[in-house]
Amino acid sequence: MALYGGIEAGGTKFICAVGTGPGALRDETEIPTTTPAETMQRVGEFFCGHRLKGVGIGSFGPVDPAQGVITRYTPKLGWRGFKFRETVERLTGVPAVLDTDVNAAAMGEHRWGAAQDTPDFLYLTVGTGIGGGGMANGRLLHGLVHPEMGHIRVPRHPGDRFSGSCPTHGDCLEGLACGKAMEQRWNAPRVQDLPDGHPAWNLEAYYLACGVVNFVCTVSPTLVILGGGVMKRRGLLSAVRREVRQLLKGYVPCARLSAPKLGGRAGVLGALALAAA
Ligand SMILES: [Zn+2]
Repeated sequence: MALYGGIEAGGTKFICAVGTGPGALRDETEIPTTTPAETMQRVGEFFCGHRLKGVGIGSFGPVDPAQGVITRYTPKLGWRGFKFRETVERLTGVPAVLDTDVNAAAMGEHRWGAAQDTPDFLYLTVGTGIGGGGMANGRLLHGLVHPEMGHIRVPRHPGDRFSGSCPTHGDCLEGLACGKAMEQRWNAPRVQDLPDGHPAWNLEAYYLACGVVNFVCTVSPTLVILGGGVMKRRGLLSAVRREVRQLLKGYVPCARLSAPKLGGRAGVLGALALAAA
């Protein structure tokens, strides 16, 4: 049986796996993200014991999927301009495909998770940052480069004076609503320390709903999957759903909002699915 390799390349660690899907993994490992030379040497060592047909990469970005590189705009300094696809192909001797971490997660959810048989959907992750990917007509969203849904503009909530945490735009959606923004605005060491019932959570639901409404009105997905560490808070998904309904005012139907079915596994499994596609 043909085996594939999957790489979920994150800012702090790489998750690499070999197999064909959930429940059919032959091997898996985690490698710290340090320098490209050091990290990729270990990636090569991990894959070299396996006969692969191809490798899929879901990476932090921004990336240029057509060129297979991480762009020079990435905040991870040592990785600017890194020829990711070419390096993996050289290390493994098989074809590789590069996409964003969120498009990979979307691919995983489409193949095995919440978006099966759903050709038009989005996958948003709300964690340290905010990212979005998805599919239109059953194809991953690409174009100029790839969607950067975390960096759209949303109307400020009246009374919110926080300047925003995005190093590039300040108060874009990510700057107002990612985990880091919540910690800075409310002076909390970690998002998890903000208790249920804290005003942080209603404000978070408002900003995320603003984002979702923009996406519903622009790309018309039937389903929006909301994942990432911040979304694990009990009650947040239903609060976002309520806000979205209120903001849409029935003008268009509300897209289905759902948690990811593969949870934190969507990225690495999606990378496998990218390789097999
Ligand atoms: Zn931004």
